[in-house]
Amino acid sequence: MKIAWPHMGSIEVAMTTILDELGLDYVLPPPSSNRTMQLGVKAGPEFACFPLKTTLGNYIEALEAGADTLVMIAGRGPCRFGFYAEMHRRILSELGYEFRMVTLEFHLNDLPLMARNIRYLKQGKPLRAVYQALKFGLAKAVAVDHIERQALHQRYLDLERGTTSAALRKAYRKMRDVSDYAGLPGAQRECLEMLAAVPKREVHDPVKIGIVGEFYMVLEPFFNLDIEEQLGNMGAYVERNIWLTDWIRPTGNNPIGGHHDRESEAAASPYLTHSVGGEGIHTIGYTVIYAREGFDGVVHVLPFTCMPETIAKAILPVVSRDVGIPVISLVIDEQSGKAGVETRLEAFVDLARSRRRHASRQT
Ligand code: SF4
Repeated sequence: MKIAWPHMGSIEVAMTTILDELGLDYVLPPPSSNRTMQLGVKAGPEFACFPLKTTLGNYIEALEAGADTLVMIAGRGPCRFGFYAEMHRRILSELGYEFRMVTLEFHLNDLPLMARNIRYLKQGKPLRAVYQALKFGLAKAVAVDHIERQALHQRYLDLERGTTSAALRKAYRKMRDVSDYAGLPGAQRECLEMLAAVPKREVHDPVKIGIVGEFYMVLEPFFNLDIEEQLGNMGAYVERNIWLTDWIRPTGNNPIGGHHDRESEAAASPYLTHSVGGEGIHTIGYTVIYAREGFDGVVHVLPFTCMPETIAKAILPVVSRDVGIPVISLVIDEQSGKAGVETRLEAFVDLARSRRRHASRQT
């Protein structure tokens, strides 16, 4: 059995740790590229949401590299994420690939199905070993989220552009190589120190930008056209509301993002009173929260044809007017280019910066 999964942010660190701990074989798809996108776009239905196509491209490249078992996290609610695994399975089967699709649903109501699928994946390994591997992998993922957050917060201070991102890449490798649970806190500390040691310039009162939107697009740098890095390089202090380990946590408690789902839902309630699937309600809620916290602008990232985020996009102009924070929605698909997004972000950051200067002159 050779297991594979699509790229999504730092998920690779947790997945490889869990599988290495269990001694299970896996195939890493090549890093996402234009080829990945073209493969997914060609094989996927035209009106499928963009992440379905990009993850399909990852799967095709993984199958080409010898994978025979594909893992997909499943979702629920009024959005198409719950159909991904089945759509991938049908499309890839019709293309002639032979494989088994295994879905993992991180929801308390679906524990029996989750247990069945884990039983298949664990290949006879004792449950205690599975528990230890999951504990280790998830602890690593939490540590990586903290490291990523530090990088996100400090990138705008880089004396030399790209040094924080280079240190972050080194930190990913270091965390991936940690082979025992006891070594995790020390490795996390070293990675944070490595980031702290990046030479920095002095910046007072930076422009502050929040990123909200569809979970995959917020987490996956290749397909969101490195929005975080672009904003940091433009001198913006950046925060985002979606973190891998918050997102898979079933309790709604978000220790990395810092706000419980209930808090964000309450903030969204004057505009949206129920979930519309995906992160739609939190896109609204966090826009309000960022305005309350003194941010100067919100970048909303959504894939083309995403239903929950299209609903949020329609509501955001009213939220923006009411809470007094500019919002830009970037709809991303296979036609989007980094240069075009960069131009729009530059204009937006300039607007947010002048708004901040204006506000500080008033006080
Ligand atoms: S949140 Fe949007 S893009 Fe993501 S799976 Fe749901 S509909 Fe598709």
